[in-house]
Amino acid sequence: MQAYQNQSIKIHNSLSGKKEVFEALNEGHIGMYVCGPTVYSNVHLGNCRTFMSFDMIFRYFKHLGYKVRYVRNITDAGHMVDDAEDGEDKIAKKARLEQLEPMEVVQRYTLDFHNTLEKFNLLPPSIEPTATGHIIEQIEIIKDIFEKGYAYEANGSVYFDVAKFSKTHEYGKLSGRKLEDMIANTRELTAQDDKKSPQDFALWKKAETQHIMRWPSPWGDGFPGWHLECTVMSTKYLGETFDIHGGGMDLKFPHHECEIAQAEASYGQSPVRYWMHANMLTMNGKKMAKSTGNNILPGEIFTGENELLSKPFSPSVVRFFMMQAHYASILDLSDDALLASEKGFTKLMEAFDAISGLKTDNKSDFDVKAWEQQCYDAMNDDFNTPILIAHLFEAVRHINLIKEGKESITATDKEALQHTVNNFVFDVLGLEQKAGNAADIEKLSGAVEMLIQFRKEARENKDFATSDKIRDQLAELGIQLKDGKEGTTFSVS
Ligand code: AMP
Ligand code: ZN
Repeated sequence: MQAYQNQSIKIHNSLSGKKEVFEALNEGHIGMYVCGPTVYSNVHLGNCRTFMSFDMIFRYFKHLGYKVRYVRNITDAGHMVDDAEDGEDKIAKKARLEQLEPMEVVQRYTLDFHNTLEKFNLLPPSIEPTATGHIIEQIEIIKDIFEKGYAYEANGSVYFDVAKFSKTHEYGKLSGRKLEDMIANTRELTAQDDKKSPQDFALWKKAETQHIMRWPSPWGDGFPGWHLECTVMSTKYLGETFDIHGGGMDLKFPHHECEIAQAEASYGQSPVRYWMHANMLTMNGKKMAKSTGNNILPGEIFTGENELLSKPFSPSVVRFFMMQAHYASILDLSDDALLASEKGFTKLMEAFDAISGLKTDNKSDFDVKAWEQQCYDAMNDDFNTPILIAHLFEAVRHINLIKEGKESITATDKEALQHTVNNFVFDVLGLEQKAGNAADIEKLSGAVEMLIQFRKEARENKDFATSDKIRDQLAELGIQLKDGKEGTTFSVS
C-alpha cells in the first residue's frame, strides 16, 4: 500500500475559501501547475519564497508516493511593464536598455533562476514550458474564444469581452471582486484605447513597428496576452481538468481570474480543482518587489553584502526561515529573524547529528510512532510546516535528554527516529545538513581545527583581540565555535 493511502490531506482552496479534503483526480497521480518567473531580471528572495513553498508541497506529495507531474512555466513574452495592458513588454524593455536580443535577456535570467533555485535545493519541475514555445496553441485558443463569442478584434488586437462573459459566468469569483465595483473603480477609456471596456483584457496585442517580439497571426503581427500562456500550457500538459494550480497571492487578480475566464470561455469549465496561493515575503513591512526596489537578492544573503544584514546566511538557513512560516502567511525578512532561524537550525542539526551515537535501552521514553504521526498530521493540515518544525523541536528535546542519560530509547525507536527525521527534514522540508561533499568537509574541519589551535594560543598569551577576531570571523562564515570542558568544538550552519 502506498503511504498516500494512509494520509488524508486538507488543502485551503482559494476558490472556495475553505480547507477541503484533497482527492486526486486520478488515484496516485497529481497534476500541479505553478506560474513561473518572468525572466527579465534576477529573482529576488520573495520570488524564491513562492517557489520554495510549492517545492515543499511537491516534495511532500512525492514523499507520500504520488506520481506528480509538476509544470512550472517560464514567462518569456507577453508580460507588460506594471502588469498593465499597454506599455512595453518587460523583456523587450530590458533588451532595449541593455542592447541585447530579447532571447539573450531570457537566457541570462533563466540561468540565474535555475542556479538560485538549485542553491536553495529546489527540485526541478517535470516540465518547464515557455510562452514563446506555445504561440501556435495560444493563437488556436484565441480563435476558439472568438468563435464562442467572448472575444472581439480592435485595430489588430484581440480582447476578452468581460461584460459579455459576466452575463453567463461569475467573473471575479477567485479574487472575490464584483464587476460593478471594478467598473466603479477604474478610469474611463480614452480615445487611444481599443477596448470596449476597461475590464476587458488582451488575448492578443498588435505589435507596433518598434516592437521586436512579434509573431504572425490571423489578426496581423503581434504577441499573446500574458494570461493566455498559463491557460494553454497548464491544460496542454495536465489535461482539461487537473489537480492543483498555484502561484503567489499577487497573481490572484487579474492573472488567475483571467485564466479562469479564458478556460471557461473556451473549454466550458475551469480546469483547476484546487487553487493554492502562497503569501508574500515582505521587507520592512512592505512587499518585496522587483519594480519598487524593496528587495534583496539571494546572492546578497549568501555573502552578507546588504545593509540589512549583519552577516551572511547559508541557503539552508534561509530555507529553514521560510519553512518556519505557513506558506499562506505573510513573512517579514529581517536580520534578527534570520539570526534566530540560524540558531534554531544549528540546534536542530546538532541534535539530529547525535541520533546515530545515542545509546539504546530496552525501553523508550519517547513514543516515536505517535510523534511521527503528529508530523504527518501537521503536513496533512494544509502543509503546516511551522507545526511540523515545532514537532521536530520536540524530538530535539528528547534526543538531548537521551544524550544526557535522563531518558532512554530502544534500538527500534532510534532507527524509526532517524528514518522520520530524514524523511521530514531532508526529503520534505528540503533542508541540507552541510554544504560540500565528505572530502570538502574533511578539509574544512582541518582548517577550522587549525584556527581553533591559533585561538587557544592567542588566549594563552592573553591576546583576546585576536582570539575574538578568529571566533567572530568564523561565525560570519557560518562556523560557530563552542567552548566546553573537553576543549573547543565547532558546528556549521
Ligand atoms: P514574477 O517573476 O514577477 O512573475 O513573479 C514570480 C512569482 O513570484 C509569482 O508567483 C509571484 O506571485 C511571486 N512573488 C513576487 N513577489 C513576491 C513576494 N514578495 N513574496 C512572495 N512571492 C512573490
Ligand atoms: Zn501564470
